[in-house]
Amino acid sequence: MKDFHVVVLIKPSPDIENVRFDTERGVVDRSSAPLEINPFDLNALEAAVQIKEKLGGEITAISMAPPMAEPVLKDAIARGADRAILLTDKRFAGADTLATSYTLASAIKKLGKFDLIICGEKTVDGDTAQVGPEVAEHLGIPHVAYVSRIEEVSKERLLIVSDMGVPYLMELRLPGLITVTKDVNKPRLPTLRDKLRARKAKIEVWTADDLADVADVNRFGFSGSPTRVVKAFVLTEKKRKGVIFKGEDAVDRLIEVLEREGILG
Ligand code: FAD
Repeated sequence: MKDFHVVVLIKPSPDIENVRFDTERGVVDRSSAPLEINPFDLNALEAAVQIKEKLGGEITAISMAPPMAEPVLKDAIARGADRAILLTDKRFAGADTLATSYTLASAIKKLGKFDLIICGEKTVDGDTAQVGPEVAEHLGIPHVAYVSRIEEVSKERLLIVSDMGVPYLMELRLPGLITVTKDVNKPRLPTLRDKLRARKAKIEVWTADDLADVADVNRFGFSGSPTRVVKAFVLTEKKRKGVIFKGEDAVDRLIEVLEREGILG
């Protein structure tokens, strides 16, 4: 393995503009929209590429997802990852954030040496922002979330701004993990040559058995998940009524309506 090793965690997420919700089963209908790199993870990957441009080394992208997510990892290769690993197995299914982060952390352990792990701040579908910090806890390494600027990088430490409403300038000793916000950079687009190269790239597939020497397989998937989704709801959007009051008594009628609705006392 080359000198400085950055791992980027990429969640294949449904295109949020087009995805539908299966209201009867209370789940996202994953067949209704193609999978793509979670938008925040594009920033994570771009951060890794910029760090590699300064320090050299290697970038490994890891996803835990069904086999149909393979093109998403090819896209990660087109955008600068050197190696991509898809963790896929029925035994990973039904994972809550704890089991997801445990599985991802186990794969990173299996890789051996790593210096920096970069995640998106959150996903557009699950939106918990828990997975990154949990991966760091499983690996026993420090982490900083909501990184909006990377000021300095070296092989030993990062100087970063974490923005949680108030910006903090922080030093992170490596190995460590950061989660990045949209402000951290502007992801570049892959060129045609990048896309063609990625099309031929091989995505490594790891199953639960591949992680058995570094992990407890009972902590994967449904059996490793202490939380259960009991019911999911689709919120109905309240539309504006859009009434137009015209004529000389328009203001009086408006006041009458506002009083009736309890808006004016
Ligand atoms: P966040 O914590 O918001 O993500 C932060 C960052 O972590 C991302 O930007 C990315 O860098 C990284 N990351 C997150 N997830 C992954 C991943 N999978 N691979 C690589 N990097 C990642 N989902 C299912 O698909 N099938 C199920 O059956 C299922 N069952 C669930 C049951 C329960 C009880 C719960 C609570 C959730 C379940 N989920 C299921 C959802 C699943 O737990 C989440 O999709 C997953 O844990 C990621 O959470 P998140 O989207 O909130 O990620």
